[in-house]
Amino acid sequence: MTTSTPPRTLITGGAGFLGSHLCDRFLAEGHEVICMDNLITGSPENIGHLMGHERFSFVKLDVTNFIYVKGNLDYVLHFASPASPIDYLKFPIQTLKVGALGTHKALGLAKEKDARLLLASTSEVYGDPQTHPQKEDYWGNVNPVGLRGVYDEAKRFAEAMTMAYHRYHDVETRIVRIFNTYGPRMRLDDGRALPTFMKQALTDQPLTVFGDGSQTRSFCYVDDLVDGIYRLLLSDQVEPVNIGNPDEISILEFAKEIIELTESDSEIAFKPLPKDDPQVRQPDISRAKDVLGWSPSYDRAEGLRETLDYFEEQIAKRQTKETAEV
Ligand code: UDP
Repeated sequence: MTTSTPPRTLITGGAGFLGSHLCDRFLAEGHEVICMDNLITGSPENIGHLMGHERFSFVKLDVTNFIYVKGNLDYVLHFASPASPIDYLKFPIQTLKVGALGTHKALGLAKEKDARLLLASTSEVYGDPQTHPQKEDYWGNVNPVGLRGVYDEAKRFAEAMTMAYHRYHDVETRIVRIFNTYGPRMRLDDGRALPTFMKQALTDQPLTVFGDGSQTRSFCYVDDLVDGIYRLLLSDQVEPVNIGNPDEISILEFAKEIIELTESDSEIAFKPLPKDDPQVRQPDISRAKDVLGWSPSYDRAEGLRETLDYFEEQIAKRQTKETAEV
């Protein structure tokens, strides 16, 4: 009997929200997974259940300095980056460095190992968009010197670097533009709308809606995103692909949905709108449908129910810890 060796896949940012779900999926697909993370925003808890798995290993490393992996590699998924507005405002230089230097290192490694690299890019490359919904051929409206510029421009640079390695060095590359994604393992305090609203609703605090809440987002459940990424990696598509759920909602309506879902008595408190906050965001997913045969399968009600269980557990853990500390 012949035993074939499993594909070897490196996931940078593998202990983060998306990275850890990718680790799960690639292990389930039979890959050997090397998870790399410096844990500045990622968490060991996200991968705790994988420790001891025979095809999983974890390396604590800052990928902006260098990346060393022994042996062959088939795939590199570059997901390392602070990704929520408060994180990249707290770590502006690291955000720029991981998008620029980290992407360079990841591409260099892929070239060396003759591996295929998939870059985690973002709908933030469209900035505050002047077209709606956003298609991949829209070039964006980003303020390079604004507070969000550190993330947006790092990812725009990362895309340019990825295409340069593809064109100049023939590295096989894929680029996914990720729209707002939610699900279990988001950090309670990452400052994004969904964890913040869940936390506030579950503890009967007012939900902080920024501005008048008329700005829109389109939220995708994490399992759908991971499935789109998996399909993109295995496809021949070199041009960027939007992966997101086009079901658009205003932030005020979203806050109300969460109050209803959690059966909370919380009210809404309006707070100032952060600078450069995009007014609208909705993916055009025609390319993903055509090329990958992908479209999201979870509707928001279903995805939010799955996510609620996770946040209820997190809040309960925190309350137990706080009681023990008193
Ligand atoms: N937002 C809000 N209250 C919060 C956190 C966020 O109203 O407590 C708004 C934020 O201004 C933005 C939207 O919700 O318009 C989504 O914000 P998030 O940080 O989740 O993601 P991003 O702005 O990167 O899409």
